[in-house]
Amino acid sequence: MARYTGAVCRLCRREGKKLFLKGERCYTTKCAIDERNDERKKGTPGQHGMNRKKISEYGLQLRAKQTAKRFYGVLESQFYHCFELAEKKPGKAGENLLILLESRLDNVVYRLGFANSRAQARQLIVHNHFRVNGQKVNVPSYTLKVGDEVSICEKSKATDSFKAMLEANSGRTVPMWLEVNKEASTAKIARLPQREEIDLEVEEQLIVELYSK
Ligand code: SF4
Repeated sequence: MARYTGAVCRLCRREGKKLFLKGERCYTTKCAIDERNDERKKGTPGQHGMNRKKISEYGLQLRAKQTAKRFYGVLESQFYHCFELAEKKPGKAGENLLILLESRLDNVVYRLGFANSRAQARQLIVHNHFRVNGQKVNVPSYTLKVGDEVSICEKSKATDSFKAMLEANSGRTVPMWLEVNKEASTAKIARLPQREEIDLEVEEQLIVELYSK
């Protein structure tokens, strides 16, 4: 499984917004771009980060695409594949794209608080710690449908590390489109998310424009 191995906070500084790539740290003042921190720390990375020129239309579209891709931690080919699927669905391609990305198993595991970050969710999924409708699924990009049930494998749930993680993440707000049973550590996809429920600050139409060139 190919993945980005560089410094992840750098990606947030590049996009100028929180992409929540590092688990708990993202919710504290240790976050490099936390609004409670000194303005000087939040700049674009690189020697000339603070002096970048006015951004072009293409630049805006590219940044929107990179933001969404990095937020969900997917590679270019997977992202483009999602866009192709989104275009074929009825409705707005940009919204469909975000809904498809939001329905990925790794994202749902993270949203439920069953992992500290999407990157950790991917690792745990690959290592067979989750079930979908009682069946083993070890593919992070697996697309969940309405009615699917996600659960943590019984053996994993009993481990100290899982117990500690579930406890630490118990305060996290779970989106309304997921019906979670915290006692049993299971969750059902009650419905698909709506755009306004997705906390990604991006103009998805810019991504559609970029790929439509
Ligand atoms: Fe780093 Fe998380 Fe803050 Fe991004 S949101 S800069 S990954 S701590």
